[in-house]
Amino acid sequence: MHDTPTPALHPVHLVGAGPGDPELLTLKAVRILRAATVILVDDLVGQQVLATALEGCAAMPRVIPVGKRGGCASTPQDFIEKLMVREALAGEKVVRLKGGDPLIFGRAGEEIAALRGAGLAVEVVNGITAGLGAAATLGVGWTDRRVGAQATLLVTGHAQPGSAGPDWAALGATAASGVTLVIYMGVSHIERIVQGLRERLPASVPAAIVQHASTGAERRLLSTLGRLVADVASNGFGSPAVLIIGDVLREAEAGIAQPLDRRAAASR
Ligand code: SAH
Repeated sequence: MHDTPTPALHPVHLVGAGPGDPELLTLKAVRILRAATVILVDDLVGQQVLATALEGCAAMPRVIPVGKRGGCASTPQDFIEKLMVREALAGEKVVRLKGGDPLIFGRAGEEIAALRGAGLAVEVVNGITAGLGAAATLGVGWTDRRVGAQATLLVTGHAQPGSAGPDWAALGATAASGVTLVIYMGVSHIERIVQGLRERLPASVPAAIVQHASTGAERRLLSTLGRLVADVASNGFGSPAVLIIGDVLREAEAGIAQPLDRRAAASR
């Protein structure tokens, strides 16, 4: 009887692809992608990002889409985890490429636990998260001492099945105390979100939406909390987009699709 030789194992890399502009990939992400033999890629990651990273690559990796959108049934999370484990245990150099940063609303915790549970080493490579891509295009910081914005809260607008989701009125009170809200996965729940926030925030608070931040398809709109729902609907915004709520937007540069109504803002 012959023993099958045990393959040498490599650490699995969870890599952030950034918000969409291939130039926002880190050098480290590109190096690791080019050394990979198997890449599991989320559908939030633009084709262009991976194509740019792998351009001229001598040995092309196997690319496995594991998207959760696009009208198809989502790839179940445990299937993705098992696939990563199986490939890594077979000696492949596995990269899990995720939109933005893998540690922000990216189920990284679950995947790291599954990989470690299988005895595999895991390394995380940061990416630029979509909310920062959105702030960059708006030309505002997440914090700004001139308007008393001392903190930022990243929050999901998407409630897990069976969960009530975030307490938007409480988050409105938080925002009123000088915390910028950066809301991911919120567009399809925008009415409920704004209604809750309005319990504790005036209609004049600046609000913005940025869709496809950092890509050629990018769209952005500067509004107020009172007008946001109507503005988002009438301008046909959809996913993927982030919402930003807070006084940091008072510093947003001109040139944005719908400028903030400064008189309304001043009359708070
Ligand atoms: N890990 C990702 C977030 C995944 S959750 C990150 O760090 O960015 C998915 C949500 O991210 C989307 O619903 C949307 O709110 C946001 N998102 C992802 N890419 C985006 C982009 N290019 N522009 C705006 N929002 C984006």
